[in-house]
Amino acid sequence: MSDERSRYLAQQVELGGPEVVLEAAGATPAADALTPRTQRSAPDSRAHATAAAEPKWKKGAPPIPGPGLYIAPPVPTLLSTEGLSDLDTLEAIAERIRTTHCCGLCPGRTNAVPGEGNPSAQLMFIGEGPGATEDALGRPFVGQAGKLLDEIIQAIGLRREDVYITNIVKCRPPQNRKPLPDEIAACMPYLHRQIALIRPKVIVALGGTAGEALLDARKSLGELRGKVHSYGGIPVVATYHPAALLRNPNWKKPTWDDVRIARQLLDR
Ligand code: URA
Repeated sequence: MSDERSRYLAQQVELGGPEVVLEAAGATPAADALTPRTQRSAPDSRAHATAAAEPKWKKGAPPIPGPGLYIAPPVPTLLSTEGLSDLDTLEAIAERIRTTHCCGLCPGRTNAVPGEGNPSAQLMFIGEGPGATEDALGRPFVGQAGKLLDEIIQAIGLRREDVYITNIVKCRPPQNRKPLPDEIAACMPYLHRQIALIRPKVIVALGGTAGEALLDARKSLGELRGKVHSYGGIPVVATYHPAALLRNPNWKKPTWDDVRIARQLLDR
């Protein structure tokens, strides 16, 4: 099996096991690798040529669901109370985050974690808040959950450096507890400004905390999933947090479906 095939197979298993492979049966290198040689399609058949043209993540992807909530981003003049609307680059925002104490989380941090990635990213991932590894390194999603997020990004045909990754709160909550409402409120202006500068085509909210805070909705993740919300016109897809997937692998398949919805929105 080639490196590419074994990587793809490992990724599919990681993302949801047999269902994912079965959906693509006979159409992908990974599925082909699982099929007895005698049953494989001829390499030069029309079906094979069509399959090769379609990206692997698209096989069995769910249709794009209907609209959900709409949230209007704050107008820049409101952000100017924090002086953020004057900050015109992501690095300037990052510097402000690193040098400011805006809530009770800041004194306990080793490093603030402003976010990282492509400043012109079409796809933005928003998590809850830094964990221990992120706090130690000052970078988002670089621990176990980050490894899984990297695999998810690769599985939809992108690289980590193509996307932008950040969190609702930029400093680690003690013992990885959920950020409190006043901590979220203090940090949200940074996120609003980051989104305004990046202007992504699609946002993926990772977990209930990210979905609720971004959409300013008191709703569970179950209620937020399965719809395409709008942040001032930018489609928002809410899905499970990668850390939750590590605890409950049954959520990998629904997450795989959600990210494929987001991926389709990118192509729209
Ligand atoms: N969990 C998050 O929500 N964000 C990170 O950066 C890491 C883990």
